[in-house]
Amino acid sequence: MIKVGVLGFGGLGQAAAQVLAPKQEMCLVAAADKAGYAYDPDGLDLHRCAAAYRDQGSIGHAAGVGTLSTNSIAELIQAAEVDGYFLALPNLPNTFMASVTQQFMDAGWQGVLVDALKRTSAMEQLLTLRPALQKAGITYLTGCGATPGLLTAAATVAAQSYAEVHSVTITFGVGIVNWEAYRATIREDIAHLPGFTVDQAKAMTDDEVAALLDKTNGILKLENMEHADDIMLELAGICGRDRVTVGGIVDTRNPEKPLSTNVQVTGRTFEGKISTHTFTLGDETSMAANVCGPAFGYLKAGVNLRQKGITGLLTAAEVMPQFVC
Ligand code: NAD
Repeated sequence: MIKVGVLGFGGLGQAAAQVLAPKQEMCLVAAADKAGYAYDPDGLDLHRCAAAYRDQGSIGHAAGVGTLSTNSIAELIQAAEVDGYFLALPNLPNTFMASVTQQFMDAGWQGVLVDALKRTSAMEQLLTLRPALQKAGITYLTGCGATPGLLTAAATVAAQSYAEVHSVTITFGVGIVNWEAYRATIREDIAHLPGFTVDQAKAMTDDEVAALLDKTNGILKLENMEHADDIMLELAGICGRDRVTVGGIVDTRNPEKPLSTNVQVTGRTFEGKISTHTFTLGDETSMAANVCGPAFGYLKAGVNLRQKGITGLLTAAEVMPQFVC
């Protein structure tokens, strides 16, 4: 049984807990949010944790298992025995994920880390930590959500038909009932809009975000995003990062996807034919399903890699996720 922790207990963190609930091979034993953490070596009660977060503002209020703390990540790392963590944290500021990684190394923690990081520049910071992670005995798999993640891996598989890859075009459609369910995701998306920076999006109050969404009828249209699919495909030798394009539409007022999420991989075969492979996600699959499923598939792969002595930093385009039973 793989003992799993989830850092961040917002939209994705709670969906991750739900995804894990029926699994035989993995058990959620630890979780943290900004104001506290919960740990139970026999497995956390999802409903108790979700109720504490919803009604009292932090998982730290969960009776019997919760602890309130303003330093929840560092304290949980020390307190909990965990094989691997899914980092479902906001990457705000843009250096946050790298700083959390440093915290794991400073604590002398060893195990598997998986993230669903989105920005190229944030992943570049992690890449500089590669030798340190290897030395620390941590197997870190980055970019393991939907995009980057599932779609980047699909592009890597699709590229195998070609002698040369000309373009990888990722187009995503996301539908959520309200933006408050995924605050970090929406703030980070706003940071990709023309005229916005990560720091500006981080500094926006909830009312300011709501006012912006009122102006657009709840829709965010994103083009030419700085998305780490590009660096991941470049590192995997598929194509240069300039050939990778990511954009999409997020509807924050309707759970139905505004368009079907897909990746198109265009290339030239060894016979000289130009062709395009398209991989389209089912419209009924939510963002949460397409992020959390792959994240744990990669976490399982990471555990197996670590058992073989492989540590350091790898991306979702270099490793095949393994299905968690
Ligand atoms: P959210 O805002 O719903 O939740 C964030 C959680 O992190 C909250 O529980 C908050 O309390 C906790 N948190 C914040 N600061 C903390 C700290 N210092 N210590 C401990 N916990 C802290 O976030 P979300 O919408 O679930 O998004 C999480 C991340 O997933 C974002 O970075 C988003 O960009 C990413 N994401 C990736 C993909 C993908 O396909 N790769 C898709 C969607 C979202």
